[in-house]
Amino acid sequence: MEKIEHIGIAVKNLEASNILFEKLLGVPHYKIEEVASEGVRTSFFKSGPNKIELLEATKPDSPIAKYLEKKGEGIHHIAFAVEDIVLEIERLKGEGFVVLNEIPKKGADNKRVAFLHPKGTNGVLVELCQEIKES
Ligand code: ZN
Repeated sequence: MEKIEHIGIAVKNLEASNILFEKLLGVPHYKIEEVASEGVRTSFFKSGPNKIELLEATKPDSPIAKYLEKKGEGIHHIAFAVEDIVLEIERLKGEGFVVLNEIPKKGADNKRVAFLHPKGTNGVLVELCQEIKES
């Protein structure tokens, strides 16, 4: 794995949280993107070399809605950049980690993503993400 690509934060209201994080970080969000297949709307902030993703549920049965219901707002996942997501999934499976989606899916911000089950990672939902390069 490479650097931490971003930290994902579950929020109830994306508009209100965009205002809050703009005050906190001193920069506005640079994009809002909906991932309809995941029932989520995201916004992204850059703060120096760091990236924050805010996640709001768009439907009541989405994973983020369920997370908010159970745990409330807060840090939802940590995403690591990987060079080759397919190889990394194979490596992590070999190490005994449970991969939630073994076939990488299209995530926000031009990424192929996969998640590890938090039960196997001390309660931390880990996202792997590989930048989709234009060919
Ligand atoms: Zn993420």
